[in-house]
Amino acid sequence: MTGGTRPPGRVGPIDATVVPRFGGPSTFARLPTIDQVPEWDIAVVGVPFDSGVTYRPGARFGPSAVRQGSRLLRPYHPELAALPFAEAQVVDAGDIACTPFDIEGAIVQIEAGADALLANGSRLVAIGGDHTVALPLLRSTARRHGPLALVHFDAHLDTWDTYFGQRFTHGTPFRRAWEEGILQKDRSAHVGLRGSLYAESDLSDDASMGFLQITATDVANQGTAAVTHQLLERVADAPVYVSVDIDVLDPAHAPGTGTPEPGGLTSRELLSLLRGLKAAAVVGGDVVEVSPAYDHAEITAIAAAHVFYDLVTVMSRSRAG
Ligand code: MN
Ligand code: MN
Repeated sequence: MTGGTRPPGRVGPIDATVVPRFGGPSTFARLPTIDQVPEWDIAVVGVPFDSGVTYRPGARFGPSAVRQGSRLLRPYHPELAALPFAEAQVVDAGDIACTPFDIEGAIVQIEAGADALLANGSRLVAIGGDHTVALPLLRSTARRHGPLALVHFDAHLDTWDTYFGQRFTHGTPFRRAWEEGILQKDRSAHVGLRGSLYAESDLSDDASMGFLQITATDVANQGTAAVTHQLLERVADAPVYVSVDIDVLDPAHAPGTGTPEPGGLTSRELLSLLRGLKAAAVVGGDVVEVSPAYDHAEITAIAAAHVFYDLVTVMSRSRAG
């Protein structure tokens, strides 16, 4: 069906009663491209970069897989009683082009690409790419909105220092962000942590940077309502950046990723936690680490597309908009 009431001039997705979902444009949720509208509130942008991975590669194909997986998204979100693409002008800005041969060079290019977009609109949500891309996106978002609270859904801490001597990898973006003062003190949290570590100090180092650690077991034992309460208390009034590494989901729900860890969240738990952030001021985010070569029957790509849809819906309703 169509997008319902929409302010004059607002351009929504292609009508699926006119052009079937399996045809038509391959933008996210079949939204307009950025040059089809004069102004926009939220831009979806792909960041096809995966040269920072430590295990399986392939997330460079994430943006196209998530866009393909988003074809089934419909305009009305019943659980949030929202028409996200009518409440905000959402566009697909294409992909930020970056080199696959030089991590630090790519980070400069991603940051410049995000800055250029944010010069003309207010909020970005990115499809990775590996988790390295969160650092330039956080820098750019903080430049636009000020120091941020981070809600980070991931099996992994991603606050390690170096890997093979490299300071910029998909396992280090949040330590770099903390060092650079991008994150507000004691306003950030990891959710969904699990799996083996190098040492106990991985956890204590991370805690000393001021991150709250919520494990996958905590989510299962406490329930999503209690965890949502904790997260909202944590971020308080700060502008929030939401970073979702799709490996936060159990490999049963997201096999197509580079560093899978058993014992993860269900997609129902993750979607519920994201919807709970509607009471926060979400100013940016990403969904990363979808590696379609390891996916089956689009399980991961479709899950990621729905995660992205909930993130955009929360942003379209958010106080920050
Ligand atoms: Mn991870
Ligand atoms: Mn990660």
